[in-house]
Formats: sequence, C-alpha cells, structure tokens
Amino acid sequence: MREVTVLGTVAAARAFCEAARAGGATVGLVPTMGALHAGHLGLLRRSVAETDVAVVSVFVNPLQFGAGEDLAAYPGGLRSDAALCAAEGAAAVFAPTTAEMYPAPPAVSLDFGGLSAVLEGVLRPGHLGGVGVVVAKLFAIIGACRAYFGEKDWQQLAVVRRLAADLSLPVDVVGCATVREADGLALSSRNAYLSPAERAAAPVLHRALCSGAERIEAGERRAAAVEAAMARVLATEPLLGRVDYATVAAADTLQPLDPLAGELRLLVAAHLGAARLIDNIGVTVASA
Ligand code: AMP
Repeated sequence: MREVTVLGTVAAARAFCEAARAGGATVGLVPTMGALHAGHLGLLRRSVAETDVAVVSVFVNPLQFGAGEDLAAYPGGLRSDAALCAAEGAAAVFAPTTAEMYPAPPAVSLDFGGLSAVLEGVLRPGHLGGVGVVVAKLFAIIGACRAYFGEKDWQQLAVVRRLAADLSLPVDVVGCATVREADGLALSSRNAYLSPAERAAAPVLHRALCSGAERIEAGERRAAAVEAAMARVLATEPLLGRVDYATVAAADTLQPLDPLAGELRLLVAAHLGAARLIDNIGVTVASA
C-alpha cells in the first residue's frame, strides 16, 4: 500500500508544497469536499500524470452552503478518502478543520459580477462567493501549482478561472471532463442521498441535456426551443421534483444568447428526493 501524508494545518501544507517546489517538483492540487468517487479520482489521476506532487484537499467549506442546505448531512470519511488518494498515487491529503481554515469568520467576500448573477449564483446566494474564498485560500496555501476542477460544476470552474486570471494567481486551472455512470448520471457525492427508485430516475437530467444538444446540432438556434425540448424530457420523469433551471448559455460567461452561436453550455439543476442534482454538457455552433 502506498503512503500518503495527511496534512492538518495550513503551515504544514504550505511547508510541504514549498519543500516540493524547492526540490524542483511541480505541484498539483485537487480541491474536494471528500466522499471521494470516480469523478474526483479522475481529477487526481490527471494530476498524478501531469505533476510531480499531487495534493488532494478535503474540506467541507461551510462558507459555500446556504441556510437549509445539506452542510450537516454532507457525506464524509477521511480514512477511506486518504486510502483512495494513496492508491491513486497522491503525495498528500490536506484535510484542515474548519477552525484551522477559518480561525475567524472572513471579512473578505468575493463577487464575480455577471458570472455569479445567473444560475447557481441566483439559486444559491453566497455559494459562488464562498467557493471563491475557499479556493483563493487553497491557492494561497498550496502556492504555484496546476489545480484540477471538474466540468461537472461548470459555473464553479468558470468562477475559479476568473479568480486565478483576475488576481494573477500563480495557478494553472485545468478543467476535466465529467465522469458518468454507464446510464449517463454524473457522479456526485450527493447521489448517495438517492433511494433506489430516485437513482433509477436520475439519468433524466443527462437525457434532457442530450435532447437539447441534439436540437442544436439539428440546426435549432432559438434558445427557448432548446429549453422547451429539455423541459419536455424532464417532465417525463414523475419522481423529479422542482426544476431550478434547464437552460443554454454562452459557455464562458454563462450569459443568455439568442440566436445560439459559438461555444455553448447546456445546464440543468433539479431536485430529486433529498438531493439537488446539477449537470451540464457542451455544444459548439461553428460560425457559418
Ligand atoms: P466536490 O467534492 O463535489 O466539491 O467536487 C470536487 C471536485 O470534483 C470539483 O472540481 C468537481 O467539479 C469535481 N467533480 C465532482 N464530480 C465530478 C464528476 N462526476 N466528474 C468530474 N469531476 C467531478
């Protein structure tokens, strides 16, 4: 069994990464909230392949959860997460306590302008700002590195790219394709909340996205028609609860576009039992 160093403090994580760079190694960072699954491990594998020292952070960041969300219920298990990281070749797991990361409630807040004024930014007020603060802290602690994020959380990836670019942080942000079950369901720690019947219903999100993408590929350029196609697919699943959005937007800014052109992202968020699931896929409309 390979060994992984578990780092519990900011000082230890910083020293570990500084020592690695001083020895000429490149550092990779895979930020997670734990309860690791094959989606997270895909990011880690990429980091292990591309960097000398891969560090996985495991921290359930209270700042990105709203009142009434699943912070207290969020799944965890550091021992099994650390074992998975070791098996994949991670050099270290950074797993600080909340008190270590936030000795005092941060006075700083981050706003991403138009990027956080749509979709998750509207439905989960404060969520993207909370992600921004914890990712900024992780980048400050880990230092110069390549940082791996999943396309599964597309808006988060967009926000993190802007964070690194706007603040000139010494971090290359790498987006990684979404890992899915055989039936299309995107892997998520929150899938653990689904009953067997809900799990069987959950791939409807991916089917809706594919149906929207097919409409665009068949020549549809009206956003409303694409969104209606997605809504129709979602409506076929009786177990599905409230649909927060099923939409298409510009891939980089997430602003609405009509007619549809260029790099697009189809995005969906819906409630299923106790879980709120999100997913997205990309489509490109080549210019004529
Ligand atoms: P989380 O632990 O949910 O905060 O996710 C940590 C990182 O893993 C984020 O960058 C997510 O986008 C990424 N991730 C989660 N699920 C998947 C998946 N199914 N495929 C690829 N990346 C994922």
